[in-house]
Amino acid sequence: MGECIFCKIANKEIPSEIIYKDDIIVAFKDINPVAPVHILFIPKVHIDSLNKIGDENKNLIGHMFVKIREIAEKLGIADDGYRVVNNCGSFGGQVVGHIHFHLIGGRQLQWPPG
Ligand code: 5GP
Ligand code: ZN
Repeated sequence: MGECIFCKIANKEIPSEIIYKDDIIVAFKDINPVAPVHILFIPKVHIDSLNKIGDENKNLIGHMFVKIREIAEKLGIADDGYRVVNNCGSFGGQVVGHIHFHLIGGRQLQWPPG
């Protein structure tokens, strides 16, 4: 996926403020944060969106959510609460076509979304 911006971030071809990385995921600060904490979690491997997730990705998705929870705790937002968001496809508001989960917190969030 030569032109995928999040593949480039995962490969460090584009700089980002990396919060966490391991063999299968990378977490980095959103360039346009909507809250005091706004981190994006991506798999290193390119997957277009949640529409492409199958049984073969169960470990990846489970691992991602364990790390989201750990980092929310580490950043001190776990007790107050936070939101994890996946925008899927056009109606879901997905702009970058490499699956990612937003961890958003540090302020009171509103519901429902727009
Ligand atoms: P989406 O709407 O696809 O769920 O969200 C994409 C997110 O990626 C947006 O919140 C946007 O600010 C963020 N983003 C887009 N390009 C970059 C980039 O080059 N670096 C970082 N750190 N975040 C980006
Ligand atoms: Zn990609």
